[in-house]
Amino acid sequence: MKVLVSACLAGINCRYDGKSKLNKKIKKLLEEGKAVCVCPEELGGLSTPRLPSEIKNATGEDVLDSKAKVYNKEGADVTKSFIDGAKIVLAIAKKYKIKKAILKAESAACGLGQIYDGSFSGKLREGNGVTCAYLLKNGIKVITEKDI
Ligand code: SF4
Repeated sequence: MKVLVSACLAGINCRYDGKSKLNKKIKKLLEEGKAVCVCPEELGGLSTPRLPSEIKNATGEDVLDSKAKVYNKEGADVTKSFIDGAKIVLAIAKKYKIKKAILKAESAACGLGQIYDGSFSGKLREGNGVTCAYLLKNGIKVITEKDI
């Protein structure tokens, strides 16, 4: 069974700064045909490079419940792109019957357990990113690159 992985971990230059966060173990999974890579921010329609985005002092679950929003560093509301991206990622997971994901830690889309707090100061808070929260809610197990 394939595993879903954050595309930036597989070496795809899809991060806000146009770079990747290559993890050799993840790239190997992709090369061996054992992984499907996704970038929820790009799938939600955001361009690369782009301004970084963070959830404003809340969690991905709060965003999904319409209790919080995601903003880019210039204050533009990018919530819809984050929610759209999460929905497309889940559809891809279902298409491939995927039950497990390895996502990039700390991201507003992909993070698990800890995410940036919305102050764009590098400070972390408890919580999951929007896509991570959506996958968990739909029964998909999520770990991060720190767990492999
Ligand atoms: S949304 Fe996820 S996959 Fe895309 S660049 Fe950010 S952490 Fe990587």
